Amino acid sequence: MFEWIKESLTVGNATVKYPFAPLELIPDSRGKPEHDALACIVCGACATACPPNALQMHLDLPNNNYIWQINYGRCIFCGRCEEVCPVKAIELTQEFELAVMSKDDMLETATYSLQRCALCNKQYAPSKEIDYLNSLLDSFAQNDEEVQRAKEQLSICPQCRRIAESANVKFICEQLERRA
Ligand code: SF4
Ligand code: SF4
Repeated sequence: MFEWIKESLTVGNATVKYPFAPLELIPDSRGKPEHDALACIVCGACATACPPNALQMHLDLPNNNYIWQINYGRCIFCGRCEEVCPVKAIELTQEFELAVMSKDDMLETATYSLQRCALCNKQYAPSKEIDYLNSLLDSFAQNDEEVQRAKEQLSICPQCRRIAESANVKFICEQLERRA
C-alpha cells in the first residue's frame, strides 16, 4: 500500500485541474466556428457540407430575406464549413465553453436580402451572391461587351433565362433597356 502511494506521488497528476484552472489547449484544437456576416456571400456551401445540420439556410420570401443560421448546440467542431467556404467567412476558433441558460442563446443568425429578377420581379438569389459574381466578372473582364451580357444574364432568374435562351436573347436585352 505504502509502495503504491509512494509511486503515485512520484508519477505526478494524471488529470488536469480544469475547470478550477484554465485548460491548456493544443495548437490545433477546434472550437466554436465564427461567422463573418459581412464577408459571407450567402452561397450556402457551409450549410450543404455541415454533417449534423448545425448550419442551415432559410428562405423568408414574405420579408424578402434569406437567413443564415448556426445552432452551436449541434456543432461538432468538424471544420467542414471552414474548408468549403470560398471567401473565408467562417473559421473555427478555440472557444469550446458554450454553456448557456437558454437553448435560443445557442443560435446565431444573419439576415440577407434577396435579389429580384429584372424581368419577372421574382426573388431568385441572395443579393450578396449576385454582387459577388458581378465583382468576379469585373475582375476577370477581358471584353466589356461579354461582361455586360453576362451581367444581364445574372440580373434575371433561371426561369426567365431559360425562356430567353429558347426564344430570343435580343428580346431580353430590349426588355432590360426598357426597364432601365
Ligand atoms: S464545424 Fe462542422 S458541425 Fe460545426 S458548423 Fe461547421 S460544419 Fe457544422
Ligand atoms: S460557405 Fe461561407 S460564404 Fe458561403 S454561406 Fe457559408 S459562410 Fe457564407
